[in-house]
Amino acid sequence: MLCLSFEGTAHTCAVAIVNAKKQISADQRDQYTTEKGGIIPNEAAAHHKKLFPELLKKALLEAKVKSSEIDLIAYSRGPGLPPCLHETLNFTKYLANELKIPVVGVNHSVAHLTSAELLYSVKNPIYVYAAGPNTQIISLEGKRFRIMGEVLSIGVGNALDKFAREVGLGFPGGPKVEQLAKNGKYVELPYVVKGMDIELSGIITKAIDLHKKGVVVEDLCFSLQETMFAMLTEVTERALAHTQKNEVVLVGGVAANKRLCEMLDIMCRERDAKFYAVPLKYSGDQAVMIAWQGIKQFNAGDQIHFEKLDMNPLWRTDQVEVIW
Ligand code: AMP
Ligand code: MG
Repeated sequence: MLCLSFEGTAHTCAVAIVNAKKQISADQRDQYTTEKGGIIPNEAAAHHKKLFPELLKKALLEAKVKSSEIDLIAYSRGPGLPPCLHETLNFTKYLANELKIPVVGVNHSVAHLTSAELLYSVKNPIYVYAAGPNTQIISLEGKRFRIMGEVLSIGVGNALDKFAREVGLGFPGGPKVEQLAKNGKYVELPYVVKGMDIELSGIITKAIDLHKKGVVVEDLCFSLQETMFAMLTEVTERALAHTQKNEVVLVGGVAANKRLCEMLDIMCRERDAKFYAVPLKYSGDQAVMIAWQGIKQFNAGDQIHFEKLDMNPLWRTDQVEVIW
């Protein structure tokens, strides 16, 4: 079975073609960028509107298939920026009407979680979703993804980005902090774990304050990583102990960080659990994960009829019924 998929929830417009054996025959992406500042939703949507037809053409060429050979369409139905979701939905409708094949609507965040299955044979892990705006410890319990713990204010990526911006390192901050941390030494920073939740705003304020008082940036980068990642590792370990699971999957942009991977890996080894990190190529937004999640849902009987195709900008991970 060949699945054609569309991703367009935020900055990235992407088209992929994947089969049920996880073989990726096309993976086309184009990211909307700005000179300065963040995403302007209407501009990002205009970008997607222009790019979807081009990327589709490229994807069919890359996979060496005709559109008539496609069996299924999967699209990112939410969560995301409404204007961007709208363009993704429009393009999905257009193609569904052309090809007259089944369509499946995918939750973008759930697709990030299950993307680990494209690369590894994980069964039922604890997910550490460490992205820019959000960071959550997630476990599949019964038919729902349960958020076992999360950041109370900002996500781990945005926390690093905020520190980097304040001390003049530019954006994105995470990779720069990781680089500078290699030459740093430890200074004490606030460690705040409340039950299963993590608070990261105080530690950033403190680090910025210490920078103003003359503590070198390398030491702050090192100490931020050690302290923030230790909090994440502590909560992940508790989730493992509580659920008695034996696998941890790290997803999200911060999964690129070697030190975070090392800490989680050490903790897992000590508990006889396995650790997997989704590499950079697939940890960001792309359509391959949308196709894989779409295939899983379709095989479990899910499908949206043409008249009911819609979008859901605020669709939470724990609202998805796991039928697959
Ligand atoms: P996402 O929201 O999943 O697209 O991830 C983006 C976030 O990942 C940004 O906040 C980046 O600063 C962060 N990030 C990317 N690479 C690294 C890295 N090597 N170490 C820490 N954070 C990173
Ligand atoms: Mg994403």
